[in-house]
Amino acid sequence: MTTSALDPVALNDGTAMPAIGLGTWGFLGARGVDAVLGGLEAGYRLLDTATGYGNEPEVGRAIGETAVPRGSIRVSTKLRGKDHGYREARAAIREARQRLGGAPVDLFLIHWPIPRLGRYVEAWRALIEAREDGEIRSIGVSNFERRHLEAIIDATGVVPVVNQIELHPHFPQAAMRASNRELGIQTVGWSPLGRQGALFREPVVASIAKRLGRTPAQTVLRWHQQLDVVPVPRSSDPRRQRENLDLDGFTLDDTEMERITALGRSGGRLWNGDPETTEFL
Ligand code: NAD
Repeated sequence: MTTSALDPVALNDGTAMPAIGLGTWGFLGARGVDAVLGGLEAGYRLLDTATGYGNEPEVGRAIGETAVPRGSIRVSTKLRGKDHGYREARAAIREARQRLGGAPVDLFLIHWPIPRLGRYVEAWRALIEAREDGEIRSIGVSNFERRHLEAIIDATGVVPVVNQIELHPHFPQAAMRASNRELGIQTVGWSPLGRQGALFREPVVASIAKRLGRTPAQTVLRWHQQLDVVPVPRSSDPRRQRENLDLDGFTLDDTEMERITALGRSGGRLWNGDPETTEFL
């Protein structure tokens, strides 16, 4: 049984990842570097970035400056839509690796499938070969639906280690969680706090947090962990960063888990980021 919120989660390629990560979207410039440094100091060992966030240099700088040994940090980054071709992806991986400090990238994901381009299978082949060449340690995807997962697995026989998807109580993703689990893929939840604060005002969340003697954010993050989801909450505030890591010593009971999951609603996505149509190029 997991004894700490930071205990690693096993992945299907024999590696492991921390049970919670720090989202870094919007961490730019010197303040961005400081936010990542603060996160590492608070205890985060998984940093979630993307080429499309434009902040791999900031993450790379923080990794270079921190006293935390590189070997205990895991960085996930993501391939942009415009890099989906095989050659483009291989070049993009090399460039991202340099921006992140030069070590092999711990976890490289395809950011969105963008079916209209029809090139995500080609991009997946590039990730597989970059891993074989030692440029990447583990490979996964983000925002893939079942049919996209099946397409890459059928074409290559290689199963992604993670699928990072939008996941929070307003959009609990029961079907995709089950699908990922069935395929042996670890679910990672993006915008795990629902980004805009509306979740913290939900009476259900507030009352369960009160019973637990915890904050609404801790209650929601613990809900993720009890669903076997790795959340990547974002905060640049050192107090909140620590709060979001302090998930030991309390458990939501089955009814509380169900009541939070029941907050899910159709149209619960934050900004209608439908994987079939979203074009994050
Ligand atoms: P989030 O759900 O992590 O919410 C962040 C907001 O919550 C911020 O405004 C922050 O200040 C606030 N917050 C954090 N901790 C708090 C606390 N303890 N109390 C009160 N408020 C708190 O939203 P997000 O940034 O959209 O998502 C997290 C990460 O997910 C991103 O930074 C990024 O790394 C990743 N992401 C990935 C994708 C993708 O397509 N793969 C898409 C969106 C986000």
